[in-house]
Amino acid sequence: MITAKTLKLSLKSLREFAKKRLPDETLIELDNRDECPLDIVRHMCSPDKLGIQLLFVPEEYGGMGGTTIDVYCVCEEMARIDLGIATSVLATFLGSDPITVGATPEQKKLWLTRIAEEGLLFAYAATEPEAGSDLGELRTTAERVMEDGKIVGYKITGNKQWISNGGIADAYTVLANTPSGPSWFILEKGARGFTHDEPEDKHGIRLSNTAALAFDKVFVPTAQLVGGVEGQGLNQAQAVFGYTRLMVAAFGLGAGWSALDRAIPYSTKRIQAGAPLSEKQGYTHKLIVPNVARLEAARAYIEEVAERIDAGEGSLNTEGAIAKYMATEAGNSAAEASIQALGGYGYTHEYMVEKISRDVRITVIYEGTSEIMEMTIGRDRWQTHLKTRGQHYHDEAKKFEALHARHSQVGADVVALALHALAEVMEKARMARLTRYQHILLRLGELIAYAECAGSLARRGSLLAENKLNEKANRRFDAAALAAISRVFAREAALKVAEDGLRWVVGAGGWGDADLRTLEASLELAAIHRAQTGLIADMDCVADVLYGRAAKREPVVA
Ligand SMILES: Cc1cc2nc3c(=O)[nH]c(=O)nc-3n(C[C@H](O)[C@H](O)[C@H](O)COP(=O)(O)OP(=O)(O)OC[C@H]3O[C@@H](n4cnc5c(N)ncnc54)[C@H](O)[C@@H]3O)c2cc1C
Repeated sequence: MITAKTLKLSLKSLREFAKKRLPDETLIELDNRDECPLDIVRHMCSPDKLGIQLLFVPEEYGGMGGTTIDVYCVCEEMARIDLGIATSVLATFLGSDPITVGATPEQKKLWLTRIAEEGLLFAYAATEPEAGSDLGELRTTAERVMEDGKIVGYKITGNKQWISNGGIADAYTVLANTPSGPSWFILEKGARGFTHDEPEDKHGIRLSNTAALAFDKVFVPTAQLVGGVEGQGLNQAQAVFGYTRLMVAAFGLGAGWSALDRAIPYSTKRIQAGAPLSEKQGYTHKLIVPNVARLEAARAYIEEVAERIDAGEGSLNTEGAIAKYMATEAGNSAAEASIQALGGYGYTHEYMVEKISRDVRITVIYEGTSEIMEMTIGRDRWQTHLKTRGQHYHDEAKKFEALHARHSQVGADVVALALHALAEVMEKARMARLTRYQHILLRLGELIAYAECAGSLARRGSLLAENKLNEKANRRFDAAALAAISRVFAREAALKVAEDGLRWVVGAGGWGDADLRTLEASLELAAIHRAQTGLIADMDCVADVLYGRAAKREPVVA
């Protein structure tokens, strides 16, 4: 069990280590040379050094048994340092996941103890040239090897593509088709018939080693079939999606904030038209404030999901998808805006934001692309909409109306408008059978993510005000600042759900004039437009907090 104090100390050691061993010049050099600093990765994973991997290994196997909240905090911190190195450490997290969820007690004891005690680096090998988003297309095979009528092992044949740590791992979890379906195997480096390619020359995360793997009848004993039963591979992978996607969500959050934390101080020093850029509203309110709001909305969602996973609510795959989708999209947009915020300097290597922007781009691709996340979210919540006869988001909205009665500062009334509008959009989509259009289903996924994250942020704002936030939760903003951020994001979410929702529903349906008028009225567009009142004042308030000018101005509530 890791206490809040221990977690804080671990994060501090990580920061100090990075400051000493990974200053910007080193990171830029490694990025230029396209080199994975293996000594650094080993240092981070060695039990007698930083020992980060101890965090996710259960105590019974020599680890620290960190909770999902602990892992999210560490992933965010690693991403703030370098996303390539973070990916390398994450590959061991991912590689050991099939073992944690599906292995036999003996396999767990052997491999998890070795990760804890030897700092074994893992790679997680699922993707293939023909099987990316759709792992059902898997071609790698594991052929049974029989002796005296008994299965004694398997011969693995096939290819894997873009595997993080592919060229440097000590061990690999490999997904392959057995006669009874996809299964995970554990393979050690050096196995006969197993080779890897040179590292890929990539757009970003150039400090991580990504390589293709080839298997030519590689023998693996039965003891290394995860769980000892064939055909469990996809279930074992599914069982941890909520958790693993939360880690990548934390990557998006950390990288996004690390870019903004360069843009914000830069803008206080850069004088244009007689004043620092930080004093130009057209700069802060376009490039900084909306990105802060989106990142913090994603953070609120991540922290809630992490708490729910830790409370034993299951793997929460859809929620993991929402967290990943929002945090990684927000991280990308924050990094992109930070290049713009630094102008010409932002476009050069030296100022780091362009590297962060190249790095964070991977987070909307690996562990499930944004489009696959939209599909997962859209499909799942569509079922909920049908099961509740369209009431689900109306019921959720009522909770926020009640929250607004207790906490009028956090924008819960606007969240309620967003959720009612979402319920109406989904209902109109049902009436006109619009989910037969894949684009509509995926766009609904996006609107759902915005509305749910707005809800989490408002709830987080109220918990902070009541001093009831998880003790490990991030406390960058005080209650008044978080409330202003929440109001800014709630307005964006409500407007997006209503306007985009209307766009897609009208765009796909064959509605008459009268239908359209009813549709517009049901979305409460006028109320959502009125709720934008006070937006600029709230954005001013957020900018003042970010730039340490908070004392001068009182937050303005719509
Ligand atoms: C640097 C890097 C590191 C990686 N590390 C690992 C690793 O350690 N282990 C591992 O197993 N894999 C790893 N991957 C692979 C990664 O998980 C896949 O690239 C990712 O899942 C997407 O698969 P794909 O590239 O084949 O794209 P595709 O699945 O071909 O998708 C291409 C595009 O089509 C969209 N698309 C796909 N299906 C649909 C659909 N049904 N409807 C609408 N749109 C769709 C996608 O969203 C995407 O925009 C890594 C990749 C990279 C680049």
